[in-house]
Amino acid sequence: MLRSVLIYLSQAAWARRIVTRWSIAWRVASRFVAGETPRDAIRVIRELNARGINATLDHLGENVTRETEARQAAEEVISMLDLIEAEGVRSGISIKLSQMGLLLDEALCEQNLRRILEHARSRRNFIRIDMEDSPLTEATLRLFYKMLAEGYGAHVGIVIQAYLYRSETDIADLMEKQARVRLCKGAYKEPPEIAFPKKADVDANYDQLARAILDGSLAAGAPRASEDGYFPPIPAIASHDEARIAFAKKYAAEIGLPQGALEFQMLYGIRRDLQEQLAAEGYPVRVYVPYGTEWYPYFMRRLAERPANLWFFVINLLRG
Ligand SMILES: Cc1cc2nc3c(=O)[nH]c(=O)nc-3n(C[C@H](O)[C@H](O)[C@H](O)COP(=O)(O)OP(=O)(O)OC[C@H]3O[C@@H](n4cnc5c(N)ncnc54)[C@H](O)[C@@H]3O)c2cc1C
Repeated sequence: MLRSVLIYLSQAAWARRIVTRWSIAWRVASRFVAGETPRDAIRVIRELNARGINATLDHLGENVTRETEARQAAEEVISMLDLIEAEGVRSGISIKLSQMGLLLDEALCEQNLRRILEHARSRRNFIRIDMEDSPLTEATLRLFYKMLAEGYGAHVGIVIQAYLYRSETDIADLMEKQARVRLCKGAYKEPPEIAFPKKADVDANYDQLARAILDGSLAAGAPRASEDGYFPPIPAIASHDEARIAFAKKYAAEIGLPQGALEFQMLYGIRRDLQEQLAAEGYPVRVYVPYGTEWYPYFMRRLAERPANLWFFVINLLRG
């Protein structure tokens, strides 16, 4: 119930106006956001890299409503690819297709995506396409497959959400193409007609899908994360849930998948201890580092995931 309300608020313009006016909201949000500028993000990535952890950078923003905004968002990604190279930090980039104009015009979004991937290829880097809410699932996968068919497969990966019933079929298709897949539980509010309503079912499906991706990786010859940290292996287990992580580690060991062929991913500001532990055990670890001024919906989804975050926010608010 609380989760649904918070996810609804994450998309409500009136709530955004109120919350972003409070300086305390930014103080709490900054636990999950590197800062407002590219320089802030680079500083955080440098710190992660020093701890043996790679990054994927996210310029916050979604659901753009104007063509100029979509083109600017693509330009920002392109300039960040240049900055990552110039600064010599180990990071790829995550993007949202609704930020690249998918809700406005699929052809515009496709153009922006192609431009970004072309640049990623020239900079020897990797772009992960985040998965948004279900009205965008089909189009996101369609554009991803198109980019694979055009030969960008080494430079682009996709995200699959374990709460969707369709994900089993999607994973099977993606494994046939040896696509790089980040597996997450799913952060949006979806109806029971298309998604598991119960957390226990999402968790069980997560393990099933993790198994399928690990098998897929083995069948593809278990390609490993690149030594320089830019290119992830086929499976990326994106979760802070220790049971999901333990399952993936155990199953990978059972089938003989080398450690370097399985990446763990977490969000900036969450379970730093676990990030370091996995890196110390020898797994590739990547942290998702968001930055920018459009932090409101991202922050609200993080509150929705864990009610304790909400109380922390309220206590700060009351303290002034
Ligand atoms: C790298 C990465 C990329 C992602 N990309 C996408 C995407 O493209 N599309 C999408 O829909 N979702 C994405 N997500 C979000 C994901 O779907 C989940 O909403 C989120 O990761 C919480 O689920 P969990 O697997 O950590 O498990 P949960 O069962 O939610 O959490 C397990 C434990 O992790 C800790 N934890 C989890 N969330 C928080 C939090 N917000 N604050 C503090 N502690 C927390 C708590 O200790 C909790 O008990 C991504 C997640 C990660 C890690």
